[in-house]
Amino acid sequence: MTDPHHILEHVFGFSGYRPGQQAIVEAVLGGEDVLAVMPTGGGKSLCYQLPALAREGLTLVVSPLIALMRDQVAQLRRNGVEAGSLSSANDEEERSRVAEAVRAGRLKLLYASPERLALPATLDWLARSDVKLLAIDEAHCVSQWGHDFRPEYALLGDVRRQLGGVQTMALTATADVATREDIVRRLFQAPPRTFIHGFDRPNIRLAMQAKDNARRQILRFVERHRGQSGIVYCATRKDTEAFAQALSDSGFNALPYHAGLDAAARSRNQDAFLQEDGMVMAATVAFGMGIDKPDVRFVAHAALPKSIEAYYQEIGRAGRDGLPADTLTLYGLDDIRLRRLQIEEGEASEDQKRIERQRLNALIALAEAPRCRRQTLLSYFAEASEPCGRCDLCEGGVKVFDGTVEAQKILSAAVRTGERFGAEHLVAVLAGEETEAVLRAGHQGLKTFGVGKDRPKGEWRSLIRQVYALGLMQMDITSYGSFALTERGWAVLKGAERVELRADVLQPRESTRSRRE
Ligand code: ADP
Ligand code: ZN
Repeated sequence: MTDPHHILEHVFGFSGYRPGQQAIVEAVLGGEDVLAVMPTGGGKSLCYQLPALAREGLTLVVSPLIALMRDQVAQLRRNGVEAGSLSSANDEEERSRVAEAVRAGRLKLLYASPERLALPATLDWLARSDVKLLAIDEAHCVSQWGHDFRPEYALLGDVRRQLGGVQTMALTATADVATREDIVRRLFQAPPRTFIHGFDRPNIRLAMQAKDNARRQILRFVERHRGQSGIVYCATRKDTEAFAQALSDSGFNALPYHAGLDAAARSRNQDAFLQEDGMVMAATVAFGMGIDKPDVRFVAHAALPKSIEAYYQEIGRAGRDGLPADTLTLYGLDDIRLRRLQIEEGEASEDQKRIERQRLNALIALAEAPRCRRQTLLSYFAEASEPCGRCDLCEGGVKVFDGTVEAQKILSAAVRTGERFGAEHLVAVLAGEETEAVLRAGHQGLKTFGVGKDRPKGEWRSLIRQVYALGLMQMDITSYGSFALTERGWAVLKGAERVELRADVLQPRESTRSRRE
C-alpha cells in the first residue's frame, strides 16, 4: 500500500487533511464499511479517492449526477489518475477505453450512474473485475424520508450483494437523522462505522427565547444589529408585511418577502437585499433557498421553525463569510400548536408524519434545553462537541434546579415500560392515567405508575424533553419516537450522577399575540 499522506500531497496537492478526512480514510483502508456525513464542500470525495489510489483494485463510485461525475473524472485524470465513467452519456470510444483499462487492471476509479450499474450486463462484467470498494455518493437518494429520493438507488443493496458483499461506503451531506438511519438500513447488512463532521458553524451565535411580545423582542434584537444585513423569518405572509412595516417605522431599511407577492416584487425585494448594505428582509421560509449572500449578519425567527432541520438550515444562512453572526429564535405555545396542526392536517403519509412529529419535538427540546444550545443541536445530528461558551445558555441566565429525582422518575418509567415508548406514554404512566395504551400494556401495575402526580402533565412533557436534550435518553426516530437510556441516563438512574433542569420553561406563558397582530 502506498503511504496515504504521500498521495495526499503529491497526487492531490493538499498540505493536510480537512477535519474528519483522515479518520475516514483510515477506516476505509482498514477494510471497514463506512457511513460518512459531511456538509457540502467538506471534502467527501477525497475520502474514497485517496484509498482507491493507496490500494490495489478498482473503486466503483456511484453518483446520480452525470455532469458532476464527468467533472470529477476530468479532474482526476488531470492529476494523473486512471479514472473513467459509465453513463448513458458515454460514447463507444470511452466505453471501450474504460473496459480495456479495467481488464488490464489499470483503472483505479470507475464512476457510474445507478441506472447503469443495475443493468445485468454491467453487473456481470463488474462481478468478474477486481472491485474493492463500492462508494455511494449522495447516499440520501436511497431514502424516502429525504426530498431527493431516487428509485434507482433502491437497487444498490442488490448491486452490493452481486459484487459479493464488497466493502461499501456511503457518503451524504444530510443532517437528518431519520434519513441517515434509512441509508444504513437500505445499503448495509450491519451498521457501518459512522463519521459525522463539520456541522458546527462556530461563528454563528445561538439563542432562543420564549415568546412574550414578539414584535418588541425582535425589534430589540435587530436594534443591536443596526446597519447590518439580516433576515427575520415569520410564520405567515401577513406577519412578514407587519414586521417589515414595524421595522421600517423604527428606521430600518426593511422589506417583506413571501410567495404571495407577484414575481416582479419578489425579485425586486430580493435584489435589494443582495445589493444594498444593511437591509432587513422580513420573510417566510420561501426566502433563502439558493440565495448566496455571504455577509448576512443575523437571522431571527419571529416564530418557531418547522423542525430542527429547518432551524439549522435557516440559521445557516447567516455568517457564510465565517465572520461572527447572531441568531434569535422565539418560541411560544401557540407556535408549537400551529406546527402540530400543520403536521396533522398535512398530506403526508402516516410514516412521514410520525417523523415530522419527532423533528418538531427535537426542536422543542432544543428550545427548552438545559445545557449548551450548540451541544444540544450538534448532538441531535450525532456530532460530539464541547459546551461552546457563547450561546445564551452558556452565558447563563437560565434558572436551574436539582432535577435528579424528576429525571430518575422519567428514566425509570422508560426502563420499566421496556424502552419501547414515546413521551406521551411516559407522561401517562407518570401521571397515573389509565389510557387505552397503558391498560393494553398492563402498565397501570408498574411501580412508577402515578409517581409524577405531584406535577401537571405539561411540566412532565417539558422535563422529558429536557432529559432527552441532556442526552440521558436517545430517541428512536424511525419507530414511534421511543426513548431508550444512554450510558449517562443509567448513571443518573443509579444515583451516580446528578442533573440540573430548567425551571423557567416548565410553565411557559401562553404567548400573548402582540397587540397589532
Ligand atoms: P463534498 O463532496 O463534500 O461536497 P468535495 O469533495 O467536492 O466536497 O471537496 C470540496 C473542495 O474541497 C474541493 O475543491 C476539494 O478539492 C477541496 N478539498 C478536499 N479535501 C481537501 C484538503 N484536504 N485540503 C484542501 N482542499 C481540499
Ligand atoms: Zn453554548
